Amino acid sequence: MSVNVFYDPRTLAELRTALASMEGEGYVVAGCTDFLAKRNGKYWHADTLVSVANVAELKEITLHEDRLTIGAACVHHQVARNEYVRKYFPGLADACGNVGSPQIRNRGTIGGSLANSSPAGDMLPALLTLDAGVVIADGAEGDITVKLDDFVQENGKTILRPGQALAFIELPLPKENRVCAFSKLGERAYVTIAKINTAISLEVEDGVIRRPLVTLGAVARRSFFSAAGAAALEGQPLTEATFDALAAVLAGEIEKAIPTRETMPYKRAAIRGVVDDLYHLLKERAGV
Ligand SMILES: Cc1cc2nc3c(=O)[nH]c(=O)nc-3n(C[C@H](O)[C@H](O)[C@H](O)COP(=O)(O)OP(=O)(O)OC[C@H]3O[C@@H](n4cnc5c(N)ncnc54)[C@H](O)[C@@H]3O)c2cc1C
Repeated sequence: MSVNVFYDPRTLAELRTALASMEGEGYVVAGCTDFLAKRNGKYWHADTLVSVANVAELKEITLHEDRLTIGAACVHHQVARNEYVRKYFPGLADACGNVGSPQIRNRGTIGGSLANSSPAGDMLPALLTLDAGVVIADGAEGDITVKLDDFVQENGKTILRPGQALAFIELPLPKENRVCAFSKLGERAYVTIAKINTAISLEVEDGVIRRPLVTLGAVARRSFFSAAGAAALEGQPLTEATFDALAAVLAGEIEKAIPTRETMPYKRAAIRGVVDDLYHLLKERAGV
């Protein structure tokens, strides 16, 4: 490898200056678990490399009156253990707590996962159901806030431009009756890339489900909201029968998303187990 200039900013202000100075072939990196894996031991070159790993503000999780702010450089282990994440967003704690291995969870960041935007990544399906927004630090133009759904495009692409870094993830605090959960299926229990990852958030009001959000990951070029899945839950009681019906709808979504992929019949059947996990988690969290 060869790197002409390496910036290791310690504050957000220093990061903005470094971003504004990026020239030529430049990369923003964090834990490098994906960045180096993608280069696969081969020679690579960067004119400018900017690390966000030591930016103090980006390593913090802060509770505000109306939202939780998670710095992009927070590692999965930190997010999974955080008391506010566990209290308000246990679905995100589920997702971060199951990423890779302890080594990956101690090194890989939540921001790196979103910037990498792998179709099988666990952060996107979990965070979409939490109505997440992201703050982009731009060396020249200042901060830009967008919905996460608009930030991630397809197959490893985002709207980030040269001279920009993902700085924060913003999660509006949920209503008291809103619960969320995440579940994934892989080949092994640990260090496994998801074959399916699914998240749900919903409110339980007068005994029925209201305003559900359902996402499906690892079955398309990007995790997506399932409107049909949400419709199967809206107005229904939080029961096994309702989630059986949801599983049938999501099986149909998978068939539609990857009709010719050879793993489709397996994924179409396996979604039932993932939905069953979600049912039990949501039922427990909703206390019904
Ligand atoms: C063995 C192994 C197992 C894994 N298991 C899982 C798993 O179970 N679930 C899962 O979801 N992922 C998994 N991953 C993927 C990966 O670890 C995570 O996506 C991780 O969170 C990436 O974070 P990072 O800080 O290491 O990113 P990096 O590798 O540093 O960066 C990843 C990409 O994002 C860019 N980038 C990083 N941070 C920023 C930023 N703040 N702003 C702009 N661009 C940025 C980099 O340029 C690069 O393109 C695994 C990876 C490995 C190697």
